[in-house]
Amino acid sequence: MTTPTMNAPASTAPAPTESQLSPSESVLQSMYESAKRLHLSAEVVALLRTSWREVRAQLPVRMDDRKLRIFEGYRVQHNGARGPYKGGVRFHPKADLDEVRALAMLMTYKCALMDLPFGGAKGGVMCDPARMSQTELNRLTRAYTQHIGMVLGINRDIPAPDMGTNAQTMAWMMDAYGQRYGYTPGIVTGKPVELGGSQGREQATGRGVALCMREYAALEKQNPADIRVAIQGYGNVGSWTARIASQQGFKIIAVSDVKGGIYKAGGLDVAEVNRWFAVAGSVAGFTGATPITNEQLLEIDCDYLVPAALGEAIDGTNAREVKARAVIEGANHPVTLAGDEVLSRRKVTVLPDILVNAGGVTVSYFEWTQNIQQFRWSLERVNDELERRMVSGFAELMSRAAKDGTRPRQAAFDIAVERVGKAILLRGFV
Ligand code: GLU
Repeated sequence: MTTPTMNAPASTAPAPTESQLSPSESVLQSMYESAKRLHLSAEVVALLRTSWREVRAQLPVRMDDRKLRIFEGYRVQHNGARGPYKGGVRFHPKADLDEVRALAMLMTYKCALMDLPFGGAKGGVMCDPARMSQTELNRLTRAYTQHIGMVLGINRDIPAPDMGTNAQTMAWMMDAYGQRYGYTPGIVTGKPVELGGSQGREQATGRGVALCMREYAALEKQNPADIRVAIQGYGNVGSWTARIASQQGFKIIAVSDVKGGIYKAGGLDVAEVNRWFAVAGSVAGFTGATPITNEQLLEIDCDYLVPAALGEAIDGTNAREVKARAVIEGANHPVTLAGDEVLSRRKVTVLPDILVNAGGVTVSYFEWTQNIQQFRWSLERVNDELERRMVSGFAELMSRAAKDGTRPRQAAFDIAVERVGKAILLRGFV
């Protein structure tokens, strides 16, 4: 087996200094640029610059050892001009207010780009779920729901899973909310199917990522079998992307998670990797592939690179080492502004997060409508409808980029910011 070339610099241009922008300042930058291209008024920009509401709550939780720990939790509602606030809840040690604020803004634009009737929100609790028991997580989730419950509502704000949370977390949230306000399954999406969740929701984000890859390959007139894909992150998004993209015929040559990664030039057998993952809890250690680190994965010789883990994985420095010709943003905000600049200079196409990972919130929308109508859709209907929306979202974005001569991220923000700006004016907010 050949070892990948990972250390040769792909560009000799000096690395730009990484900007000191925080995550929310980076997202704001994209909005400001769009607002300028769209000639939005200063008043509309002023509304988009800040959140409509930010709740910060103290969450006391009795841990299994009987000690009291006080966590900090947030719910940020960025903009609700297009409909109820929508967005996930993240449990992560780095989920601070600025990151949650940035993610809430991204939700506003993601929902607008996909033309879903929602505004944008995000929640977060600064904690390390990997180091907590299920009973501790249950208590923390209930404390969080109790403290932010007054700003939620089926027509007001509908949470969903994000990093560090899952269908079980949503089941606890639904139960905690229901105990106080009465049975309301539509209060959260991404619930277990047994409690009113939608078929196909769990795999929806990965399915959307794989559909974007398929559409991009078709646009490039390339056969998926000739496209080598590296995926960073093997959680919900990364693992489903690997599975569905390999079913579509893409060659998955490298995957990684927090514990490390694996590489096989001829393509990994994703079903085998999943069997290993189910036992080992990591892709690391999988036999029949070369071990690599997470950093090496980003610099591997491949065609499509899919960062599907943490935010800001690709910055102004390691962007110079990216060999892929396209970066498909499975995670939220995985490329910093400086990283984006370097990739663009090096002619690497970046398909933006607000399109690529929008499959999750799109099926959340289907789940919410099913809950409201008290009617269940089949898996086929969910997948067909998701495919239709991802394909048209992709086509709309790429034709806007071609028409305006902008990069895909700029085109995505232009479409989204324009829609939110129009809704703000129609509502009479300014
Ligand atoms: N957390 C996911 C995201 O970032 C899904 C949000 C939702 O379904 O509301 O898009």
